[in-house]
Amino acid sequence: MTTIAFIGLGNMGMGMAVNLAKAGHEVRAFDINDAARASAAQQGCVDAGTLKSAVADADIVVTMLPAGRHVSMVYGDEGGIFSHAKAGALFIDSSTIDVTTARKVINEATHLGYRMIDAPVSGGVAGAAAGTLTFMCGGTDEAYAAAKAYLDIMGKNVFHAGAAGNGQVAKIANNMLLGIHMIGTCEAFNLAEKLGLDAQTFYDISSTASGQNWSMTSYCPAPGPVPSAPSNKDYKPGFAAAMMLKDLRLAKDAAESANASTPMGLRAAELYELMEKGGHDGLDFSGIMKLIKGELG
Ligand code: NAD
Repeated sequence: MTTIAFIGLGNMGMGMAVNLAKAGHEVRAFDINDAARASAAQQGCVDAGTLKSAVADADIVVTMLPAGRHVSMVYGDEGGIFSHAKAGALFIDSSTIDVTTARKVINEATHLGYRMIDAPVSGGVAGAAAGTLTFMCGGTDEAYAAAKAYLDIMGKNVFHAGAAGNGQVAKIANNMLLGIHMIGTCEAFNLAEKLGLDAQTFYDISSTASGQNWSMTSYCPAPGPVPSAPSNKDYKPGFAAAMMLKDLRLAKDAAESANASTPMGLRAAELYELMEKGGHDGLDFSGIMKLIKGELG
């Protein structure tokens, strides 16, 4: 049994922490939200009460926080993880954050003698609860090897993408591509329908032709062809448009810092920004179909 501190018990973190506890580890759970800590305690974790008591005796600290500024603060601020963790502890940050902050925090951890990886995930809330997430990791071989057994409990596919920050690189490049092909898929279905071709027939053809892609076959934005897709539940998320926009903004910043041309990624961000401005970013990201069809105000 390993003592694991888990910080950030939100939509994703809760399921991940509970899965570590179910696997027999002592999970000392902390969140600034009292109700989240109470819920974790009901599901087999220990309510640590404070960040300090969560971290002090932990061999491993996992963080699952909203954005880069939270990660910087929770690790580096006075009274943060770096102030309280024991020597030799291993840190796993699974939050989706900007590459620059990820590299900065890992460098600082390494400088202080800790091991740390960035390990953002895909697979959503359902994957977190089921323990079927995909982890994309960045960090040294040694830190990755030490983390792997624990990532295997929370996930189904675990990849080592290279040095510190490369997990975040994989995540934002993948999600930029996802945003782009989702919009392209919406445009294609809308065009076909306007020209008199129904969604199912277009799906049957395109899903076996060169337009085939994940947004079409697993998550079809046109209602009908893929029964489990959010398009059949009035675009209830799923993966909210707001979260897609967050990832597209991270991709935009990263592209600027690397001097990489991403014209389609930028355009995808602009379209998701329209959903945000109209107050529709709580819809699933495939709900951008409604924007393309001119159905959003
Ligand atoms: P969330 O907002 O539901 O959870 C974040 C939790 O962190 C909250 O419970 C919040 O109270 C807690 N928190 C914030 N500041 C804190 C602090 N200083 N100390 C302790 N706890 C603090 O977010 P989420 O949906 O669980 O997402 C977490 C991360 O995972 C994000 O970076 C997100 O981009 C990424 N992600 C989310 C999804 C998804 O489908 N929700 C999918 C993949 C990746």
